[in-house]
Amino acid sequence: MAILKVAQLGHPILRMIARPVPKKEITTEKIQTLITDMIETVREYDGVGLAAPQVHESLQIAVMEIIENPRYPNEETVPLTVFINPIVNALTQETMEVWEGCLSVHGLRGAVSRPNHIRLQALDQNGRTIDQEYKGFPAVAIQHELDHLQGKVFLDRMTDLSKLAFINEYRRYHLKDISI
Ligand code: ZN
Repeated sequence: MAILKVAQLGHPILRMIARPVPKKEITTEKIQTLITDMIETVREYDGVGLAAPQVHESLQIAVMEIIENPRYPNEETVPLTVFINPIVNALTQETMEVWEGCLSVHGLRGAVSRPNHIRLQALDQNGRTIDQEYKGFPAVAIQHELDHLQGKVFLDRMTDLSKLAFINEYRRYHLKDISI
């Protein structure tokens, strides 16, 4: 078990398209250790999710866990989920705006609109199939992690940079804007 260093915006690995993990490699010690370390790392930093490129591994693996989280209070919870080689399809045109943060974009929050109902298809940490729908904040969080696997960060999704703020100013002036 280890807490991994998180790549910060500007590191080229955050801009690479991550490589899918062959199903037979999922149960290897290397991948299992990476997943365990990613879980420990996201918990250490009170993140909602973490993608492998953020810990310098250009692989299509992400973890998500929405529990009582001081960085995102009042959100609904989702148990620990590991998704590998994910595919996401939006099931609605309806979007929701969330002020997103990112462990790789330290200290900033920015408002992003994304579809609020999605279908996620992926493999889990045991190589089993995940095929599940998500609504609301978890749907947004999954799309944020998926973006990391495609070399994108939430800043790329912003259409109004006046809704980009440092965390203290976000808390002071914009916290009331969350409408979920
Ligand atoms: Zn992120």
